[in-house]
Amino acid sequence: MSLLPLTFLQFFYFMLKYTRTTNVSLTGGKIMAYLINDDCISCGACVPECPVSAISEGDDKMVIDDSICVDCGACANVCPVDAPNPQ
Ligand code: SF4
Ligand code: SF4
Repeated sequence: MSLLPLTFLQFFYFMLKYTRTTNVSLTGGKIMAYLINDDCISCGACVPECPVSAISEGDDKMVIDDSICVDCGACANVCPVDAPNPQ
């Protein structure tokens, strides 16, 4: 069986699946999900930034599904009140 060269998208998809199924980051550390604290004002800015759609609206603030979050920090980068933080 020959090994075909992977396209960048195939490689990205493979690594995303690898990190999610093993809970190990690409640098070898354990993935720790982000958590949104009570400072959240539900502005929604973080939702479209999440590459894995881990953020949804909760009762009084946005919430992150820690079984999906890949610890990228994109939500924290756009939040006006620094509500998302690593657990
Ligand atoms: S850290 Fe990244 S993957 Fe996790 S909720 Fe924020 S944007 Fe999504
Ligand atoms: S960007 Fe910050 S304040 Fe806005 S919804 Fe997300 S966590 Fe809440």
